[in-house]
Amino acid sequence: MKKDDCIFCKIAAGEIPSTTIYETGEFKVIFDIAPASKGHALIIPKEHYDNVFSIDAEVASKLFPLATSVAKALKAETNCDGMNLLQNNGAVAGQTVNHFHLHLIPRYEGDGVKLACEPGDADKEYLAELAEKVKKRI
Ligand code: 5GP
Ligand code: ZN
Repeated sequence: MKKDDCIFCKIAAGEIPSTTIYETGEFKVIFDIAPASKGHALIIPKEHYDNVFSIDAEVASKLFPLATSVAKALKAETNCDGMNLLQNNGAVAGQTVNHFHLHLIPRYEGDGVKLACEPGDADKEYLAELAEKVKKRI
């Protein structure tokens, strides 16, 4: 369902212009308006889902095969040295557009792009308990 105040719904519908790399009935692949690196692309489902917690599982199942194709095509044309696939959910996780999207960020030696998280300490007891609880919900 389209959301009236959503910029990516408008982009998906072609109401706001975007540099479109690829399009299917269900997805639009565009270049990010403020790229973190050369070739920074976004895969957007045309249907509105706020984030990973609400995306339809069947739509999501088509996302990664598409992502692999787009990643290979971007790599072939940009000659990037690597690529981050990034997907933010919730403001606390850095989501600024509340319409699900997957970032493909080509990486180049010495590009200085900062995305990595710092390693932390694993609480083994907590993780063992959490694994048991989460397992039951999947
Ligand atoms: P988020 O922080 O939600 O994971 O990522 C949102 C991304 O959407 C940002 O990288 C931002 O630059 C991009 N973006 C925001 N508005 C527009 C727009 O109107 N057009 C395009 N192509 N990208 C946008
Ligand atoms: Zn939307």
